[in-house]
Amino acid sequence: METVQDRFLRYVRFDTQSDENSDTCPSTPGQRTFGEALVDEMKAMGITDAHMDENGYIYGTVPGDPKLPTIGLIAHMDTSPDASGKDVQAKTVPYDGTDILLNEEKDIWLRSSDYPSLKENAGKHLIVTDGTTLLGADDKAGIAEIMTAAQSLMTTRMAHATLKIGFTPDEEIGRGADLFDVEKFAADYAYTVDGGPIGELEYENFNAASAKVDISGINIHPGAAKDKMVNSLLLAMEFQSLLPLHQRPESTEGYEGFFHLTDMEAP
Ligand SMILES: [Zn+2]
Repeated sequence: METVQDRFLRYVRFDTQSDENSDTCPSTPGQRTFGEALVDEMKAMGITDAHMDENGYIYGTVPGDPKLPTIGLIAHMDTSPDASGKDVQAKTVPYDGTDILLNEEKDIWLRSSDYPSLKENAGKHLIVTDGTTLLGADDKAGIAEIMTAAQSLMTTRMAHATLKIGFTPDEEIGRGADLFDVEKFAADYAYTVDGGPIGELEYENFNAASAKVDISGINIHPGAAKDKMVNSLLLAMEFQSLLPLHQRPESTEGYEGFFHLTDMEAP
C-alpha cells in the first residue's frame, strides 16, 4: 500500500492554488484536475460512488456497519493564493532542531525564531520546499491522510463505521463550505482534517468578513493641482489609519478580533 508520505508527495505536484478574483467554482482549473485524479484513485480503491459534482466538490463512501454512526472526514483541495503552488520542489530532510537552509542560491531559510513549533520536531524528518513556493500541506496533508485511511478501511476485515469523504475547492478564499451538499454527504458526525500540532482538536471556528474598498481620486497636473487634486493613495492611507491601531493580527491573540490589511494597490 502506498504510504501517506508518498501519496502526499504525489499530491503536492498538482497546482491547486485558488484565486479570489475568479467567479467560477472551483476558482481555478487545477483544482478540477486534482479532483479528477482523486476520484480515479478512490474508484481504484473500490469506492464505487466516488464522484465530482458540477461545482468541483468530491464525495465518496467507504461502506461500513450500518448500525454504527456514519463518520465524515473533510479536507480542501486548494492552496493559498498568497504564494505560488506551481512546480513545488518538495524534499524530505532530517531535522536536527536548527534552522533549515531551503534554498542556497536565493538564501531562503526556515527559521525556528519565525516558527517556534519547529523545535518540537527535532529528530524527525520534515518535508520542505525550495522556499520559492508553498508546500501545500494545507491541506494536501489532510487529503493524503483521509485517502490513506480510506484505503486501509477498504482492505481491512475488521468491522468499522461507514466513512463519508468530502473534498472541497476554494477553502482558502472563504468559499469552501458554500456549495457543500450536507444532505448528500449524510454523515452523523464530521471532522475537518486540516490542522497544525499533532493531537490538536479544534471545536470552534474562526469567523471573518472581508471588504474591498475602491477609491477614485481626481488627477491633475501637479502644477495646477491647488484645490483640485484628490490623491486616492493618500485617501486610502487615511482610511486605514482610522482603523483601531491595536486591533491588528500582530497585537491580538485568543478571542480578540482584528482588522487585517492584506493588499493595497494603485493602478
Ligand atoms: Zn486549510
